[in-house]
Amino acid sequence: MEFFLSVLEGYPVLVSAIILASITVVPYLIHERRKSNKVQAAISKAKKLGLWEPVTMHPKVNRDVCIGSGACVSACPEGKILGLVDNKSMTICASECVGHGACARACPVGAIELVFGTERRGVDIPQVHPNFETNVKRLYIAGELGGMGLIRNSVSQGKEAVGYIADEMKGAPYKSQGVIDILIVGAGPAGLSATLMAKKEGLNYIAIEREDEAGGAILSYPRAKVVMTSPAELPIYGKVLKKEISKEELMALWGDIAAKTRIKISTKEAMISSESKGEYFEVKTSKRTILTRYLLLTIGRRGSPRKLDVPGEKSPKVMYRLLEPERYANQKLLVVGGGDSALESAMSLASQAGNQVTLSYRGEAFSRAKAPNRARLDAMAAEGKINVLYQSNVLKFRGDKVDISHGQKVIQVEFDFAFVLAGGVAPNDFLKKAGVIVETKYGTR
Ligand SMILES: Cc1cc2nc3c(=O)[nH]c(=O)nc-3n(C[C@H](O)[C@H](O)[C@H](O)COP(=O)(O)OP(=O)(O)OC[C@H]3O[C@@H](n4cnc5c(N)ncnc54)[C@H](O)[C@@H]3O)c2cc1C
Repeated sequence: MEFFLSVLEGYPVLVSAIILASITVVPYLIHERRKSNKVQAAISKAKKLGLWEPVTMHPKVNRDVCIGSGACVSACPEGKILGLVDNKSMTICASECVGHGACARACPVGAIELVFGTERRGVDIPQVHPNFETNVKRLYIAGELGGMGLIRNSVSQGKEAVGYIADEMKGAPYKSQGVIDILIVGAGPAGLSATLMAKKEGLNYIAIEREDEAGGAILSYPRAKVVMTSPAELPIYGKVLKKEISKEELMALWGDIAAKTRIKISTKEAMISSESKGEYFEVKTSKRTILTRYLLLTIGRRGSPRKLDVPGEKSPKVMYRLLEPERYANQKLLVVGGGDSALESAMSLASQAGNQVTLSYRGEAFSRAKAPNRARLDAMAAEGKINVLYQSNVLKFRGDKVDISHGQKVIQVEFDFAFVLAGGVAPNDFLKKAGVIVETKYGTR
């Protein structure tokens, strides 16, 4: 040590540099390490809660190009999708990305690209021409179903698609008894704007929506605020200028648009199938058969969840997707289903403070779920963290109780919220049946 100090005495500049480094660089490095550790802990938590893997579009960071500016982290309107680890950007909750793309625009070195799926998990995207027509003549797709999310994109695509259809109809008029001009399926932002455009263009249209109100995906999820990165322009109604709007305001806005413009949307009517009859399509819905010259699908990408078809299921306490498990604490929760998503949701809910979780499954073993999920579930059930009811069927939701047949008995389970995660029909099955070419993307655009 003495030898060291005597050497340093001869180098006052070096000594000053070491002192300066220890009072500036070292605290900075410690601060950065703490920040990295925090993000890494958030990633581990997201993995545990099943939020790490993307569902559809999400940012892919090229870590060789990233310079760690953090511009992407600050630009993201959702707040918790990205974080910096060792001065490079990484996704934390990729499943919660809704595709604003603000991260990619903010990156000063172009290290971020928005992609679909990952190398492990592919995402199916239908092939759509720039005028929104598919490989099936006169079958069009607009909005999130075509791969592009966000309210404003869906609004502009719905409007544009009908614009192309109206132009084509002007060039080649077609009239046949009992055949309408256009059937618009799904009344989310894309379908609403398409319907407004159809009315503006004077088309003979029918618009159907399977839910009991129009509005689309956003209405089915718990959501504090909806962000619009730029205003949306609706035909007939005009500009929707708000950049931030609550879910309730958005629902009121859709209601106001429908009332003021007097568009007609047939709710509680789902499209079941479509068949091309050459000059027109024969579409079967849950209520009737419709013959239409053009078919525009604006059904989003969320598919139709499988329902239980039991009394009381319409209660707002019964949901078909668990998006933010961390919102639930000190609650009595019922999860119904036996696949990976049911098991993962039950386990993430059971990891939150004070929750009492019951998992109801009609089978006698979780044979459809992955082995690691089954092992974790068994361990949590053995610790009493999850009450697993095999060979059980939900019979009825009644206020804060649910009747469940279990073996020979009918038992009552108290619940604050129920999550029915019994699979569903993906929109792509629907498309393939209609003859639309669908491509699987593995981490590409
Ligand atoms: C949790 C969450 C948060 C989001 N936050 C934002 C945000 O802050 N800002 C933003 O811009 N975007 C946000 N988005 C994305 C945005 O909601 C979607 O991109 C947008 O709603 C897509 O519009 P769409 O009309 O294409 O489809 P959807 O909104 O999915 O609408 C499709 C409609 O079709 C109906 N349908 C489906 N199948 C049938 C059928 N067979 N027959 C009849 N009807 C059918 C559905 O019931 C639905 O109403 C969010 C999405 C989610 C899930």
